[in-house]
Amino acid sequence: MTDWQELDKQYYMQTIVRVPVTLVRGKGARVWDDKGKKYLDFVCGLAVNCLGHCHPVVTRAVAKQVKTLMQTSLWYYTIPMLQLSELLVKNSCMDRVFIANSGLEANEGAVKLARRYGKLKLNGAYEVITTMDSFHGRSLAMTAASGQPKMHEPFVPMPAGFINVANNDIEAIKSATTEKTCAVMLEPIQAEGGVNLPIDGFLTDVRAWCDSKGILLILDEVQTGIGRLGTLFGYMQYGIEPDIITLAKGLGGGMPIGALLAKEKAAVFTLGDHNATFGGNPVTCAAAYATLKYVIDNDIAGNAKTVGEYFMEKLLGLKEKYPFITDVRGRGLLIAVQFDSEIAQKVVLECLEKGLLVNKLKANAIRFIPPLIIGSKEVDEAIGILDKVFSGITG
Ligand SMILES: *Cc1c(COP(=O)(O)O)cnc(C)c1O
Repeated sequence: MTDWQELDKQYYMQTIVRVPVTLVRGKGARVWDDKGKKYLDFVCGLAVNCLGHCHPVVTRAVAKQVKTLMQTSLWYYTIPMLQLSELLVKNSCMDRVFIANSGLEANEGAVKLARRYGKLKLNGAYEVITTMDSFHGRSLAMTAASGQPKMHEPFVPMPAGFINVANNDIEAIKSATTEKTCAVMLEPIQAEGGVNLPIDGFLTDVRAWCDSKGILLILDEVQTGIGRLGTLFGYMQYGIEPDIITLAKGLGGGMPIGALLAKEKAAVFTLGDHNATFGGNPVTCAAAYATLKYVIDNDIAGNAKTVGEYFMEKLLGLKEKYPFITDVRGRGLLIAVQFDSEIAQKVVLECLEKGLLVNKLKANAIRFIPPLIIGSKEVDEAIGILDKVFSGITG
């Protein structure tokens, strides 16, 4: 039998400490490894497979499109891209769409759009204010946008035009705003940076500040969009409307796609400003259209809210039982559990052994980003495994 993990060591660039398991198949909230062992998957492709693995609605859409038309470029009109764009606009506060291939690419597009807005409407303003502990992707510009010095250091100098300020601090945003500022870019909840929730009123304060200065508010909804927080988009939780949002992860139901959505006033790209060879790819757009339609028609966001609340309640029960759990936080099905010491990797490995995939968020925290279609049964199963793992840690 081939030792796939040995091949990884030999041939692949070593940029991440992988969980020692080789996954070969998935269905719903389950995955199987190359030895036939089954796992309950509460990572789901990093918050991507919102309908679970290989949902028939998605696989059917892909199979049909892949046999019909696979790639044309944006030089031609294609149907899946336009169906998807219409569905996105009709179900959000946005007016126009550009389809990209990933989260960082959608964010790059958003920043280009904000700079274009700055050129046209704000005397050439180009700076974008972002927050510490944010994560916006790993291109050079999005590395600079991400407020994480450890991401910057290996690659300095960083591209100019990004100001990272303290999170949840409206005064910090106000004092960083100058005549050079064209936008503020935030995640509704900082996901990769720790599942850090906004404090009460923060997003409304930022919205009001952006309005008073005439600058744009970009929400990076790459992780929070498509039902993850219990509403179709994260901004809907906070009673505000951004000028631009970006989507990716959950959008394609497992296929790689990103999207940039803007209000009419901010959709200032003109001919030649932006394009992408694979942008609007018919296969990924067909997958995304099928996914989004299913999410909307079946109120999958509502399920994420209900199941998320149930999961949170059960996790708080574990927190009562195990004092080394210092915090349980999140919204919908984006939830983190924090410990008083650096045991996250140990917890991940012991959960793996007991048949549960969870994500290490930090040395002292794990994250749950399960498919949004799970019910209380899967939550109970995960809680049972976590309880066993945690009891081994105290004892
Ligand atoms: C994952 C993520 C990104 C980056 O998306 P990629 O598809 O990996 O480029 C950007 N922003 C947020 C909030 C994310 O969670």
